[in-house]
Amino acid sequence: MRSPSHDILFEPVKIGPVQTKNRFYVTPHATGNGHLNPNMAIGFREMKAKGGWGVVSTAITEIGPDCDLGSHPVERLWDEHDLPVHTRQAERIHAHGALAAIELGHAGIRARNFLSGLPVIGPSTWPALRPEMPMHAKAMSLSDIRAFRAEHRRAALLAKRAGYDIVYVYAAHDISIFTNFLSRRTNRRSDEYGGSLENRARLLREVLEETREAVGDRCAVALRFSVHEFVSDFAIRSDGEGRDVVAMLAELPDLWDVNLSGWSYDSSSSRLAEEGFQEPYTAFVKSLTTKPVVGVGRYTGVDRMAALVRKGHLDLIGAARPSIADPFLPQKIEEGRYDDIRECIGCNHCVATESYGVAVRCTQNPTINEEWRRGWHPEEVPPAAKPENILIIGGGVAGLECALTAARAGHRVAVAEAREELGGRAANEARLAGLSAWRRLVDYRLGQLRQMANVDLYPASAMTAEDAVGFGADRIVLATGSLWRRDGLGSSHAVPIAGLTSGMPVFTPDDVFTVDAFPHSVLIYDDDHDYLGSVLAEELARKGKHVTLMTPLAEFSSWTAQKLERDRIVARLLELGVELLPLARLDAIEAGGVRFRAGLARTEQTRGCDAVILVMARQTDGNLKSEILARGFAAERLHVIGDAEAPGTLAAAVFSGHALAETLARGTALSDFKRDRAVVEG
Ligand code: ADP
Ligand code: SF4
Repeated sequence: MRSPSHDILFEPVKIGPVQTKNRFYVTPHATGNGHLNPNMAIGFREMKAKGGWGVVSTAITEIGPDCDLGSHPVERLWDEHDLPVHTRQAERIHAHGALAAIELGHAGIRARNFLSGLPVIGPSTWPALRPEMPMHAKAMSLSDIRAFRAEHRRAALLAKRAGYDIVYVYAAHDISIFTNFLSRRTNRRSDEYGGSLENRARLLREVLEETREAVGDRCAVALRFSVHEFVSDFAIRSDGEGRDVVAMLAELPDLWDVNLSGWSYDSSSSRLAEEGFQEPYTAFVKSLTTKPVVGVGRYTGVDRMAALVRKGHLDLIGAARPSIADPFLPQKIEEGRYDDIRECIGCNHCVATESYGVAVRCTQNPTINEEWRRGWHPEEVPPAAKPENILIIGGGVAGLECALTAARAGHRVAVAEAREELGGRAANEARLAGLSAWRRLVDYRLGQLRQMANVDLYPASAMTAEDAVGFGADRIVLATGSLWRRDGLGSSHAVPIAGLTSGMPVFTPDDVFTVDAFPHSVLIYDDDHDYLGSVLAEELARKGKHVTLMTPLAEFSSWTAQKLERDRIVARLLELGVELLPLARLDAIEAGGVRFRAGLARTEQTRGCDAVILVMARQTDGNLKSEILARGFAAERLHVIGDAEAPGTLAAAVFSGHALAETLARGTALSDFKRDRAVVEG
């Protein structure tokens, strides 16, 4: 049953001419589909509307060809040709009682315009905000400014025609032309659009007024604004110009959507920031406006959400990642099913996929972006035509997700896990520095499985082929995971690193959970390039060890850059005194230290240490599979999933476990899915 203290979350909120059904608000965020996969994007958002969110927003929506974001697929509303997609999107969101919001956006000097070939525009001639691209923005003339205002107005009118209820003016993060004008870093003008804050805010004020005049009779006008920036020069701060902007424009929008800039701070991973870390910066906003305020904070704690409303900090609980991890979060809270909530773990795998320019994937929710093309649902699986007895060997996240999905489809499921503890590497890694929220991956699945009468969990049950076949299951699933290689092979090492038997203690990440104490000076060689090398460095440095982190690449933990983490991770390691050695290829391990080559240099260098941890490639063990087959078990009834099939991310392991059970229930192959062709369906 729902606690009465949470009733406040189900009150309607009036936003200008429209009203929400509750306080759950999906703030604008990308799906990775943009204009390229419109049906997938619509399916993604419709599922959230079904799950009970009161407002569902689009991603940043380009308002014209002068702000194309190129390989970063976001939505488009350039002209009337884009209307069918948006009309259908608004209609599918409305079908479930939610309001539809559109975030009109112009990326200003962050635009790419490679597709359109138009110049990138901004307040001044200034380097485009992409340091990797040597281009500058063209300073907008007064007629360019007038043209931009007309473009924004036209897009707002189109948004209204499409049926949206809330039309955004986007002045947040560092991806907005309004931010470029507001900031003294990028606005170097001396006319009425530059200089004083009033002048720098002029364009924003004009566009807010014009949007209101154009669509305000039926649509609410929302302003998304970053009240605090984390940059070194001329930062807009919540105790400075950020506050002044809110005071100046207080009653102009119908809704304030407030957050932090840049996006890498606003979307901090759980490794770098706690739930609700934005609160100290955004708390002041409601004291300056009578209009409703929405804000984000990776909120999954229901008491905290209710308290935020009660104490007058927010009127609406904004969410991007928590709504990806659990599209049904509001419905579960409404029904008091708190234990069923699939809480976001803050790993930023979703951000990584989106940054990579592909459809968003989620570690917690393997069904995200599969709603339309594969017909998957985050809470439901079609009943299996013929329920079977399924034995799953391995209780990591692949095994647990497979078990949960198969059990929901009506099968009788047994999970046998060698260790006392279920959860595999996710359970282990959640013990490391900064990763405790990852434990939610295991807790959610175990919590569900333990309530199901058709599931048996067998911890401390290492299975041999004989045990497996003797179990008498109709189907066997191997979810036995992978192990880190000890032989010094990895993506940069096609031949083993020399000297593994030199007497130097050499470990892999698998040992970290069993070794009682490491010697004082530890060298970590990271040829994996995701989080683990730097997490181990942090973990050991916090325990007082002298740590050297060496990698053959030019940058550390390079994949974490996709998750908006890398720069702050490197800063943290430096603060902890970790010695960083980039572009260093480990040649040999010997008693007392290692030999390595810096970059392409021919000469070798040495570094002393007492132990080495190799974070290189992983390997699978195919023996169990071949031994089971050798006992006559039918190959078509034996499956390998997760890291045991191909070592990868936790998200891939969860997806693999889900995909097997889902496709078995549907009688389909994983390759059977509808292809999105950038045309609206039906
Ligand atoms: P994944 O990410 O694919 O779920 P993990 O490595 O996290 O992989 O989990 C695999 C799990 O399988 C580990 O907990 C491991 O102890 C377990 N396991 C491996 N071999 C066996 C076996 N023969 N019998 C039972 N459990 C096993
Ligand atoms: Fe949350 Fe990770 Fe899923 Fe993103 S991928 S929504 S951060 S659990």
